[in-house]
Amino acid sequence: MPQYDYDLIVIGAGSGGVRAARLASKSGAKVAIIEQVQVGGTCVLRGCVPKKFLVYASEYSQAFRDAKGFGWTVDWARFDWPTLRDAVQNEVNRLSGLYIKNLNAANVEIIEDRAMLDGPNSVRLTREGKSLSAARILIATGGHTYRPEETLGQELGITSSDAFLLEELPARVVIAGGGFIALEFATIFSGLGVDTTVVYRGERVLRGFDHDLRAHVQADLERTGVKILCGSTISEIAALPGNRKLVSLSNSMRIEADQVLWAVGRTPNTAGLGLEEAGVKLSPRGAVVVDEYSRTNVPSIWAVGDVTDRINLTPVAIREAVAFVESEFHERPTAFDHADVASAVFSRPPVGAVGLTEEEARGKGHRLTIYRSVFRPMKNILAGNEQRMLMKLVVDSKTDRVLGVHIAGADAPEMIQLAAIAVKAGLTKAQWDMTCAVHPTAAEELVLMGEPVSHDNEAPA
Ligand code: NDP
Repeated sequence: MPQYDYDLIVIGAGSGGVRAARLASKSGAKVAIIEQVQVGGTCVLRGCVPKKFLVYASEYSQAFRDAKGFGWTVDWARFDWPTLRDAVQNEVNRLSGLYIKNLNAANVEIIEDRAMLDGPNSVRLTREGKSLSAARILIATGGHTYRPEETLGQELGITSSDAFLLEELPARVVIAGGGFIALEFATIFSGLGVDTTVVYRGERVLRGFDHDLRAHVQADLERTGVKILCGSTISEIAALPGNRKLVSLSNSMRIEADQVLWAVGRTPNTAGLGLEEAGVKLSPRGAVVVDEYSRTNVPSIWAVGDVTDRINLTPVAIREAVAFVESEFHERPTAFDHADVASAVFSRPPVGAVGLTEEEARGKGHRLTIYRSVFRPMKNILAGNEQRMLMKLVVDSKTDRVLGVHIAGADAPEMIQLAAIAVKAGLTKAQWDMTCAVHPTAAEELVLMGEPVSHDNEAPA
């Protein structure tokens, strides 16, 4: 057995990389983690965590409006962007510090440098100019926001990473894209009083989610003043005096804006890592190709998280990392099961979804019984708030198993975490209904949907 400097070198100190490094080190392995920017990764530094704080901030405008119906007068409310921005950055930096503390406590060596593979067991530190060897190497470099380089003036737009650090809140923003990031930032900006336009190439936002849920979310965002232009893309951004931008669309429309946000997807961080030179296979999208144990085609190299472009969510990266350590450092081969992973979009209304959409279930040949409930939660009635909640259960007609749960409305992300347990456990609709309601809540509707809206008796043709 050759002698290596480390048992494990992890490249990238985000959620997946940090978890793998800490757990492997706790098992007695000698571990180093290499990070080129700041410990924490996308989730902590420029993703989930700061985004959620901005979402919380954006919810106050509606809360102040709702308050009137409950007897409150809030006519002094003012919003100050720098206060929020700086508070969020302070918290993010505190969390990054905690990550470092935890890595130190676990005896992981943190190396601040840019890493590049220079062999199946060797990593080059490009700033320091020296190479380190390891028995195993874990690629956990995440992804970055994609920009359509071919679009004229694309550099005048910002990405979600820049949005957290804006000098000032724009008066008008145009957001390109109709996915997670586009809708979350549309929610944030419009909630903070910014005139917000979403430009989306498809027919309806949130492709991949259930069709009823997509329609509900789009209609509600529009009801609250977000303009959504479907079937169009940004063809050019031109600079106007005073930092203004003129945005030309493929449908010949022109919109003036103060900021343009690219939210058109993310790309795995594999460029310049020496992966191809080390013989690691990449997908056409540039993701590291791995098997269910997160093994690449090179026996000493593994990859977890967004760089593998499987399900690009923090908890998934963490579970992949845990499975990697179980398999490689505890001799317990473990593959993380990617089925029935719940997801949440922190839009207005927020979304929670788990399992199959109606379309996916039909595509898999299931006969379906569909339960759907659209109602105004009791808080909104007194508030005079027109926002309605949507709950939908996709049930297999033959087995009665609940295949998918789709919720849009207040607290949907919190509810879906619990519903996901039942879906993952394969419970039937009858078992859901055996569960007594909690009253008065919105979530009780999940166990009270008695009458289906549709029921397939025959197998699909
Ligand atoms: P998404 O894949 O969710 O959305 C990308 C959007 O950009 C889609 O609407 C897509 O359209 C559109 N698009 C893609 N390419 C182009 C193009 N060339 N021109 C115009 N439009 C284009 O990616 P996001 O960047 O929003 O988020 C990345 C991932 O990060 C998510 O998939 C999710 O896994 C994760 N994430 C999770 C969050 C959460 O858990 N709440 C929050 C934010 C991100 P189309 O639909 O037609 O493909």
